[in-house]
Amino acid sequence: MIVIDEKRIFDEIERRKPVSVALNGPDGILPKIQDTASAIMERFGIPAYVLADSCFGTCDMNTNGAKVLGAEILFHIGHTVNSTSFGDNVVLVDAFDNISFDNIAKKCAEEFRGKTISLVTDSQHLHEVDRVKSILEQGGVQVKIGKGKGQLNDGQVFGCEFYPVMETREVVDANIFLGQSNFHAAGIALSTNRPTFVLDPYFNEIREVTEFAQGLQKKAILAVYKAAEAESFGIIVGLKEGQFSKMTALKFRKELESLGKKVQLFALTDITDDKLQNLRGVDAFIQVACPRISTDNHFHRPVLSTPQANALVKILKKENVENILQVPHWL
Ligand code: SF4
Repeated sequence: MIVIDEKRIFDEIERRKPVSVALNGPDGILPKIQDTASAIMERFGIPAYVLADSCFGTCDMNTNGAKVLGAEILFHIGHTVNSTSFGDNVVLVDAFDNISFDNIAKKCAEEFRGKTISLVTDSQHLHEVDRVKSILEQGGVQVKIGKGKGQLNDGQVFGCEFYPVMETREVVDANIFLGQSNFHAAGIALSTNRPTFVLDPYFNEIREVTEFAQGLQKKAILAVYKAAEAESFGIIVGLKEGQFSKMTALKFRKELESLGKKVQLFALTDITDDKLQNLRGVDAFIQVACPRISTDNHFHRPVLSTPQANALVKILKKENVENILQVPHWL
């Protein structure tokens, strides 16, 4: 069960006495966020708005939504990073999953006895890392926990940022991800090119995602080679605040034009196949927002992420391309 650190929210409201607040977080915990918003309204009598648009990370906090509503504080819940606030108006609040990993960790120790693994997780399960490490070590497994970087804590990954597992990949037999997210685990498998397993405490199962990730990789590479045949490109700037990367878009425009390609520039908040279907005169797209939009979704025309677009430029320049996604940060 997800537990939101409501004390931190209540203390902040007591201290700052805002006239109204807003809350948001990942889709999966929205019902819990609704409960917290109701608790705020009951306890303090102030409006507490739930920003219910999809929200995939600290790259996607919708501070503009809070500003439009006049909310003085935005409580961004469930994306734990190694800081507790962004500026004065955004407060980051932890939401931890209180399920125990003990049983599945013991099962994992039996399966991986004698092996060396990299232990890694997402925001909701960071507090379990030390406990699982000690269960695995008692069972004869060597455990590495890679160092965090940027916003990442040690042993933590985002969907596009993999520093801890990239640090350990040469010295481990496999990556073990704590949680239920095939999305994060597939990213780990793709970036490290190592066997990767999900330790899922809800189903009490150890799930390998290596093959699934290889499928995503094949699709990503195929899109790059299809785009290499294109004459006209649409370059899309994402309008979500933490995914805004206009300079990268303009860099790709310059490179593609110097290689004789036609370029149009677009900006979108949500980059979906439906939205792109409306756009004419474009053989292939490059989007410089969230890289997982390109790797994890189906599009009728190639839609390349930043690392894929870097590979495309190399191919067009007849340079060597290898290991497109084996980089610690896909932006
Ligand atoms: S994968 Fe996408 S949503 Fe997740 S942190 Fe990276 S840019 Fe943001």
